[in-house]
Amino acid sequence: MTTIGIPRALLYYKYYPLWITFFEEIGCQVVISRNSNKRILDDGVRNTLDEVCLPCKIFTGHTINLIEKGVDYLFIPRMKSVETKKSFTCPRLVGTSDVIYYSLRALNPPNILNPYIETYTHPLIEAYLEVGEALGVEKDRVEKALAKALEVQEKFTHFKKKAPSPHQIMKKLSTVNREFAPANIPPNIEDEGSDGKIKIALVGHSYVIYDPLISMNLIDKLTSMGIEVLTGEMLPEELLMQNYQEILKQMHWTYEKEILGAANYYLKDDQIRGLIYMSTFACGPASLVGEAILRQARKHQDKSFLALVVDEHTGEAGVMTRIEAFVDMIKRKEGAAHGN
Ligand code: SF4
Repeated sequence: MTTIGIPRALLYYKYYPLWITFFEEIGCQVVISRNSNKRILDDGVRNTLDEVCLPCKIFTGHTINLIEKGVDYLFIPRMKSVETKKSFTCPRLVGTSDVIYYSLRALNPPNILNPYIETYTHPLIEAYLEVGEALGVEKDRVEKALAKALEVQEKFTHFKKKAPSPHQIMKKLSTVNREFAPANIPPNIEDEGSDGKIKIALVGHSYVIYDPLISMNLIDKLTSMGIEVLTGEMLPEELLMQNYQEILKQMHWTYEKEILGAANYYLKDDQIRGLIYMSTFACGPASLVGEAILRQARKHQDKSFLALVVDEHTGEAGVMTRIEAFVDMIKRKEGAAHGN
């Protein structure tokens, strides 16, 4: 069976349900890279230019892991636009497949399936027909596979809005072929009851806040401190768009609109005690988005705000100290508000 390698990084965190369903429906076997670890990071850093953002370096490390696994193809789509209106992704997401091709030539990588996903100007099916053609799959089968894949992706999106915690979202992402019914959400000791817990919102790119290495397991750390963590993934799309427009009338970066929308929504939510915005050094869009969130946070003095910017040199102990101080401050404020 033809094997397709998908790096467990960048947009894997958004579209893996769609991608794995599509490839399985056309008769391929999907292989994903292992969880991010020090070796993946080191491989990525060694084979990428210094000025590239950390998520792209990690992506390179994951790709090397797939090359070592001996997959037949790598799937690295050029994600230019994912909306039907004029809105785009970060240029680095468009150019990833070229960067991988040129930086890893010495490792003799397999062929890269890299269709342009450009839904602003072209129907999505065109990109997948291109993939089908490269793999020798007939048009009819590709169309059916994409329809099924979009259905699964939609169910995953729906699941995220009802998920009781970010842990459940990640569990579902890795067991995506199983049923999506909310009743099937498995119990998780870390998610036991949310009654009375302090709620903190965590916003940022999904490949930053959910990657255990980049985020330094921030969600687990907060959870173990008795905090209930909420992320932008858990909010409906309409709410994100409505809330982003209250801050900026027009912006042409799809994923950044979602981050801004989530930040603004949670800053207004009375149940939320604090907001953490996590981004990485050398991220172009973050320079604008971070400033916009900071300005908005200043208008909500009742909420504590923490901006964390990380790269491969960031020490975990330093981040942990800041997190502990942040949570401690919120707990003290809570205590003072209740006369303790
Ligand atoms: S949005 Fe930022 S973190 Fe994401 S790929 Fe672009 S530069 Fe890197």
